[in-house]
Amino acid sequence: MLKSLLLKGGRVVDPASGLDAVADVLVIDGRIAAVGVVEAPPDVEVIDVTGHVVTPGLIDLHVHVYPGMGDFCLHPDKVGVETAVTTVIDGGTSGVATFGLARRWIDDPDVKTNILAFMDPCQIYFATKDFICHKLEIANDERNLDLDSTIATLAANDDVVIGLKVRACYTDDPHRSPFVEAAKTAAGDKPVMVHLGRFPHTPTIPTSDLLQTLRGGDVITHAFRGASGVLGADGKPTPEFRDAVDRGVRLDVGHSGTDFRAATARKMFDQGFLPHTISTDLNVFNVDHPVISLPETMSKIWALGVSLPEVVAMTTVNPAATIGRSHELGALEAGRVADVSVLRIEEGDIELSDGYELIAADRRLVPVGCVRAGEWIAAA
Ligand SMILES: [Zn+2]
Repeated sequence: MLKSLLLKGGRVVDPASGLDAVADVLVIDGRIAAVGVVEAPPDVEVIDVTGHVVTPGLIDLHVHVYPGMGDFCLHPDKVGVETAVTTVIDGGTSGVATFGLARRWIDDPDVKTNILAFMDPCQIYFATKDFICHKLEIANDERNLDLDSTIATLAANDDVVIGLKVRACYTDDPHRSPFVEAAKTAAGDKPVMVHLGRFPHTPTIPTSDLLQTLRGGDVITHAFRGASGVLGADGKPTPEFRDAVDRGVRLDVGHSGTDFRAATARKMFDQGFLPHTISTDLNVFNVDHPVISLPETMSKIWALGVSLPEVVAMTTVNPAATIGRSHELGALEAGRVADVSVLRIEEGDIELSDGYELIAADRRLVPVGCVRAGEWIAAA
């Protein structure tokens, strides 16, 4: 039996409804019962969140969370509920043939974080420290594609697979990736996430070709990395990039160790190219430095001049829309499963790192805890 909870007195920021005010959030039987000024009913556990920021359960659109399927991965709760993040989306750690193994993590009753997945459309993919599928040239072997089984596995796992994450490797034509084309065909209405930048061992198509083939609703992760080919030598967006954004291709931060540069972000923000979603790409290489957590990544975007309600939108209502789950995720609405995040604002002389430069800030977001499916979990 879940305890009833009252999160009392926080600054509730819910961009889906436009709410940004001091309010309470009441949770009964694992669901949101009310948002507003609420009298504590009897037998309710009151959690005083005065001075903190209360948001819909945060969503990290790009992480790697199937340990044992790739030594690149982190435990889902380490990047999830332990940092006040209630939903994480695995960014293509698993291909089709191994998706049953990935599901063991997704369905594990001991894991508290809600896990959804971008699946790799290839039969075999593993996210490993040494990029083994690239080293062994599996990632650029067309025999690794079997469209019928990709479509069947997507349909069979429709409850958790929200799209496909594809590596834009090529085989003979250096301007066309059969893997990206297969992903678009298999995904149907679901989004395809692609990665800007290279992989070791296997070549990928140029950014201009990749941008031209993406559809509205598809996602570019690592969108604010340096030298990716979205800005020309003059620092202005290329025509292909501008067209892609105009078509509705979505820009995701995907911070990672070397894939977010404040210097690039400033240039792009100044020209009106803001992230649709903020995500981390958390994995073993970047969790200690420079990424740390989703709230730390949000703090960097906040420090670059994006307002707090917009930063919250980029980690709640926006990723929910990207993955087609607006009806259940990303908003504080009575009747929904109670996923709620609580963050503290730490003030002072703060230095945030993108891995290249220190970003001076006077505040940062620090995880306090979250309500995940009605249960309060304090941050670790
Ligand atoms: Zn990744």
